[in-house]
Amino acid sequence: MATVLITGGSRGIGRACVEYFCNRGDRVAFLYRANEKAAREVSEKTGALGLCVDVSDPEAAIDAIDKVRREYGKIDVLVSNAGIAQIKLFTEITNEDWRHMIDTNLSGAFYVAREVAKDMISKQGGSIVFVGSMWGKVGASCEVHYSASKAALRGMTLALAKELGPSHITVNCVEPGVISTDMNASLDKETLNSLCDQTPLCRLGRAEEVADAIGFLTSPNASFITGQIIGVDGGFAL
Ligand code: NAP
Repeated sequence: MATVLITGGSRGIGRACVEYFCNRGDRVAFLYRANEKAAREVSEKTGALGLCVDVSDPEAAIDAIDKVRREYGKIDVLVSNAGIAQIKLFTEITNEDWRHMIDTNLSGAFYVAREVAKDMISKQGGSIVFVGSMWGKVGASCEVHYSASKAALRGMTLALAKELGPSHITVNCVEPGVISTDMNASLDKETLNSLCDQTPLCRLGRAEEVADAIGFLTSPNASFITGQIIGVDGGFAL
């Protein structure tokens, strides 16, 4: 039974991960930013421990991770999933938009992974999976700050896999395509149809399909896989 920490576990892909690992019989804790109602539902359904913390606040993130350690012991698996998106013309992205995006999607992943890596190094084992995006690979028009934050996670994955490999820790990244979650709820039908048309598998993905890939990457079946960036995108980014 592993101790698993999932960031952004109250909704969407993170929630599917909480359910996946709870079904696998692990001790699961998740972080969320604000949505108490959604978090309570997840905890009531799965028994997972939910903690309200903004991952872009390094001190708060460390406090939350300490609470998880006190409750469940050292962390074996990290799913760094919390993220935000925004659609804006490049010239209209404000300094604040830029900072908020990078602070959440990149710095948040860094703060949490840095703290959790201490547990894994002391145990000489563990798995980290970053949730990037296919837009970090191919770039999304009108989402330059989002694409940049996700492209940076690729570099973090590769470098960290090399650094932590000798401590028997695997580090991988999944890059979802268009997945049916709240993040895409504001897209109109025409846009969603067009995105389906551009996806070789001709449909949107489900959060559970991303969770299955993450589950595999953290399982003994993937024990010799590290530093890999795996698209879970129906072939979109080919
Ligand atoms: P979502 O449904 O909008 O859920 C986002 C989750 O992240 C929520 O649990 C939210 O908490 C949490 N969160 C956001 N900012 C946070 C912060 N500062 N601190 C802590 N938690 C925070 O998103 P999703 O679609 O599941 O996306 C999950 C990840 O997959 C993101 O990194 C996203 O970029 C990536 N992704 C998604 C898609 C897609 O098509 N959906 C495609 C590619 C990549 P609250 O509930 O409290 O707000």
